[in-house]
Amino acid sequence: MTNDKKKLTTAFGCPVGNDLDSITAGPRGPALMQDVHLLEKLSHFDRERIPERVVHAKGAGAYGYFQVTADVTMYTKAAFLSSIGKKTDVFARFSTVGGEKGSADAERDPRGFALKFYTEEGNYDMTGNNTPVFFIRDPLKFPDFIHTQKRDPATNLKSATMAWDFWSLTPESIHQVTILFSDRGTPATYRNMNGYSSHTYKWYNAKDDYFWVQYHFKTDQGIKNLTGPEAAKMCGTNPDHATSDLHDAIKKDDYPSWTLEMQILSPEQAQSFGWDIFDITKVWPHSEVPPITVGKLVLNRNPDNYFAEVEQAAFNPSNLVPGIGVSPDKMLQGRLFSYHDTHLHRLGPNYHLIPVNQAKHAPENSYQRDGAMRVDANGGNGPNYWPNSVGGPQPDGVSVEPEIPLKGKGGPHPYGHKNDDFVQPGNLYRHVMTEQDRTNLISNIVGHMHGVPEPIQLRQCALFHLADQDYGTRVAQGLGLDIRKVAKLAAMTQEERVAATPLK
Ligand code: NDP
Repeated sequence: MTNDKKKLTTAFGCPVGNDLDSITAGPRGPALMQDVHLLEKLSHFDRERIPERVVHAKGAGAYGYFQVTADVTMYTKAAFLSSIGKKTDVFARFSTVGGEKGSADAERDPRGFALKFYTEEGNYDMTGNNTPVFFIRDPLKFPDFIHTQKRDPATNLKSATMAWDFWSLTPESIHQVTILFSDRGTPATYRNMNGYSSHTYKWYNAKDDYFWVQYHFKTDQGIKNLTGPEAAKMCGTNPDHATSDLHDAIKKDDYPSWTLEMQILSPEQAQSFGWDIFDITKVWPHSEVPPITVGKLVLNRNPDNYFAEVEQAAFNPSNLVPGIGVSPDKMLQGRLFSYHDTHLHRLGPNYHLIPVNQAKHAPENSYQRDGAMRVDANGGNGPNYWPNSVGGPQPDGVSVEPEIPLKGKGGPHPYGHKNDDFVQPGNLYRHVMTEQDRTNLISNIVGHMHGVPEPIQLRQCALFHLADQDYGTRVAQGLGLDIRKVAKLAAMTQEERVAATPLK
């Protein structure tokens, strides 16, 4: 085999004599079918694009490591968290959510914060966001919600009316809407934002004692955001600003890092906790569950090839290692299906063989075989069934999550108790935000809702009013609405409010 990288070849290694002139019948004649190099080049080019992600299409990624800084073996038996100082290779991808692959990094949107830990027990993926909560808490609503963030089917335009119609009919969205329309909805860079698991997960130790946990990756660069006008300007002047910022920082050895803090609740504590810990629209107040520092995430290497390593990266909350399990959070349960499913559509059944997705430190030993683009030895001459008596890989009998008690009847149960949707966004508005944060929040909302039909504006302002009277009043004033109508709507049930605000 020649190592001559300077010699141009076809995809199959045959030398190419001319890459500037197609083969034609004479200098002015048509192209000939026998120009196999031209045909190969065009047909490969025609297939260069794979389906873009239906969400999180625009993103940037980098490699690095996670290092443990505290003993957490009383909570989890995960090998990569087993001792202070232990380092694990990581690949991270940050993204916006609703925009297409060519959309601007500065768009108002949650940011994806996805991590792949290449552990010795297989890959562990933490697929979070830069916000600790989400708009909805049932996966049945997810396609509908995302449709409202995409383009109107008739006009192919983004539609604030679709978004506010949905949010005003979905009161549990108000917490995330409040964060989204604060300046945290437009982070200055990917380096200047936190990452949260948002979901509750289960950690369990070597004795099978389990705990409910939430992850908070706090940026060591400090939180920095763009104001609404700054973000709008950035979209126009540098639509790739966060992508280039991440790349440039790592290139000049200014490695971004995040401190992992965990909130941890025992099952007993969870039972008497004031909030439903499986409701992703709620946080666990820090005063009630103080976070403990667990480790450090550092990103220190840029990918060599965007398509190979970032576009084809596939994260999946189902990728779990012993010591880490899932919770009954319904949104998480939906994602356990949907991530793998969408990767099958986007990348094919063997996407786990793409190098960035491969389990680097714990090779795959499964009975899965064949399928499009199976590009490794495909299990060689080993058995492809289990059980077998020819020495194939065996289940270890111990990698089983501890059981959790469940009760009730199978049925479509809404989240019920402990789910006042307005207290936490109200606390955020009143106690966490500065007056400048509140002013920017109101201005960002008013700017976005301008032009939305008045019945939707009124309905939504009533929800803001329920979170905090000042909040609802200021948005209503900014939109020129009758504040008395808003207060009246706020005093109704959601069903009455919807009935009282029909679209003409
Ligand atoms: P705390 O005062 O203990 O914590 C407030 C948290 O809010 C901090 O983690 C801070 O993150 C974050 N924060 C600060 N400014 C904003 C902002 N403009 N938008 C969103 N988050 C912000 O309060 P509690 O734990 O009692 O929570 C109060 C409210 O704070 C919650 O209802 C929730 O809306 C919000 N919050 C709570 C989080 C939690 O896990 N408890 C996490 C994030 C937000 P940082 O340190 O990075 O500045």
